Amino acid sequence: MKKHFFFDMDGTLTRSRSEITDTMVACLRGLIENGGDVIVVSGAVKSQIIKQIGEIVKDVVILAQNGNHAESSSGEIVWRNELTAIQKNETLKLARKMIGHANLGIRDPGDLVEDRMCQISYSLIGHNAPLEEKEAIDSEKIIRKGLLCCFEKEISQLNILGIQARIGGTTCIDFTALNKGDNVKCFIERMGWDPEECIYIGDALFEGGNDHSVVGVVPTYSVDSPRGCEDVIRSFINELGA
Ligand SMILES: [Mg+2]
Repeated sequence: MKKHFFFDMDGTLTRSRSEITDTMVACLRGLIENGGDVIVVSGAVKSQIIKQIGEIVKDVVILAQNGNHAESSSGEIVWRNELTAIQKNETLKLARKMIGHANLGIRDPGDLVEDRMCQISYSLIGHNAPLEEKEAIDSEKIIRKGLLCCFEKEISQLNILGIQARIGGTTCIDFTALNKGDNVKCFIERMGWDPEECIYIGDALFEGGNDHSVVGVVPTYSVDSPRGCEDVIRSFINELGA
């Protein structure tokens, strides 16, 4: 039986940079009230996760910035893996090249790249662009897969510096030292949890997606929307309550 529930946030628990719905909160509460653990694993920083999931943050573990900032439900920082100056500089150079290559109509150039300390995130049209535009620009991930392919050589040079690049969120390419899979593995080892009692639910489990690294670490379940995720959660609540 599954007891420990790991969730991606954007595209899984919520729409991109959007607040969680009451229905989703009720689903997560259902898991917790039936003895399940809920862990939110997102590319976002802690403050953004709190903004999106609200009060329930007090009852869940946060693995922010793809798990490079781990925080318990009581607010204790479990670990934090910040990027070095060299890692940041080289990543920013590549992000600038990608922006030039993608050549998309951009409203606010200052909104494209966020340095989150443990992670650098490049958004194709801006992190704070209107949600509908974000959902429409690269829904099939074709632009971002193209960028990863085109800059394969530069990415392998970043790999030597210990940086990985993956498709994340709705419009992002995330650059981190450790990925979600590395950090989920670390966390379950620390907790002494049996991987078979864990499940990771995400919308980017495909190769190149920022959930893909979790494949092989714990069992995974792919969803394509928060609505689909709610259905999966309800089935797990039934199992826990049986
Ligand atoms: Mg996602």
